[in-house]
Amino acid sequence: MNCTIITIGDELLIGQTVDTNSAWIGQMLNAIGIKIYERIAVGDIAVQIVKAIDTARSQSDIVIITGGLGPTKDDITKKTLRTYFHAGEVLHEPTLARIRAIFEKRGRPLLAINETQALVPDNCTVLDNERGTAPGMWFDVEGKVIVSLPGVPYEMKHLITNKVIPKLKTQFPLPEIYHRNLLCVGIGESSIAQMLSGIEDSLPSTIQLAYLPDLGMVKLRLSAYGITDAAHKAMLDKVYDEMKRIMQAYVFAEEDITLQEAVGRLFQAKGKTFAVAESCTGGYVGHLVTSIPGSSVYFKGSLVTYSYSMKEAILGVKKETLETQGAVSEACVREMLDGLLRVSDADYGVAISGIAGPDGGTAAKPVGTVCFAVGSKESIKTYTIQFFPSRMENIRASAMTALNLLRKAII
Ligand code: ATP
Ligand code: MG
Repeated sequence: MNCTIITIGDELLIGQTVDTNSAWIGQMLNAIGIKIYERIAVGDIAVQIVKAIDTARSQSDIVIITGGLGPTKDDITKKTLRTYFHAGEVLHEPTLARIRAIFEKRGRPLLAINETQALVPDNCTVLDNERGTAPGMWFDVEGKVIVSLPGVPYEMKHLITNKVIPKLKTQFPLPEIYHRNLLCVGIGESSIAQMLSGIEDSLPSTIQLAYLPDLGMVKLRLSAYGITDAAHKAMLDKVYDEMKRIMQAYVFAEEDITLQEAVGRLFQAKGKTFAVAESCTGGYVGHLVTSIPGSSVYFKGSLVTYSYSMKEAILGVKKETLETQGAVSEACVREMLDGLLRVSDADYGVAISGIAGPDGGTAAKPVGTVCFAVGSKESIKTYTIQFFPSRMENIRASAMTALNLLRKAII
């Protein structure tokens, strides 16, 4: 089975909105064994939309369209589809009732233009959109499926997950898939590829290895499509175990979770706590950690000490250290961590200070130089790492490194 994804909207073409819909849909469909043949982005222009649908239909079993279903004049997808299929128009009562309820709840008057959202081409099956006013539409045409969904990501995701995928699974013979994930941190994609080159060369053609890099980590995914009998699974498991052995020093999870989640689970399992002293990350580590529900069990807090004076006053960093070695030094982060462990009463801590850029770099300490101290009252280690020229990347990489250092400290 294969699919073409069409995203519609003038704003997508000029980069005012970044097309995250097709990336997300691609991921979701790929995970259930549907090949993504092509992604097409077009403006709100009928001839372009028709051309895209013609192309998509000619090459794919499934066509997923997002965008252009709003009530305003510039949203023309629904009208274009109706004309394209030479279909009539019917009122979908449940949608109208839902639109009325939404407006009533918000205390806003229901305009005629809003009611038109409940009108749909008479050859479609409506996919109820419980999160918005524009319904999803499913067309069965000559053995192929064309689905039109609202552009709002939160509505589109709900419809794909709860309506489209279940329906695709009943309608098409999708291959069975067996996946296993290995999540690595502290190593780049190309280094991993080098370490795994032996494995990759000897992979049977029915097993695929994918590298999925994401914010300072790399997800390795082994997949077997189609034939998933016990023998085949065992074969994949064997490759997986070998991969795990080679990557051991870098593996932080075997299921699809974030690094902060993995660190949280480790601390929780061991009944230990940690705290963070942040400078260049400005609280980002604390943000990542607290985005995990239940983090209060193991997380004491984050102190964001950006200035010299706060490093001195709150963490007890010595003026002399700052003056002679600078805030971005292993001596400074060590004193930050000493102070953090004193004031926070946490079992473990990590301190971060670096030059995020774009300014502030020197020959000795260029932009991207970041110092870390990690450990407990018993033992502290310090590191200096050189990251990137760009500020946001440095902040993210520093946060991921800090989390990874905490992970290593506790295992
Ligand atoms: P609505 O009925 O809510 O108006 P719609 O189907 O008309 O939905 P659009 O008007 O195209 O959708 O877009 C609605 C919102 O969704 C806009 O804020 C737009 O930026 C966002 N959006 C649309 N398409 C995409 C996309 N491909 N990726 C990410 N966001 C998108
Ligand atoms: Mg719209």
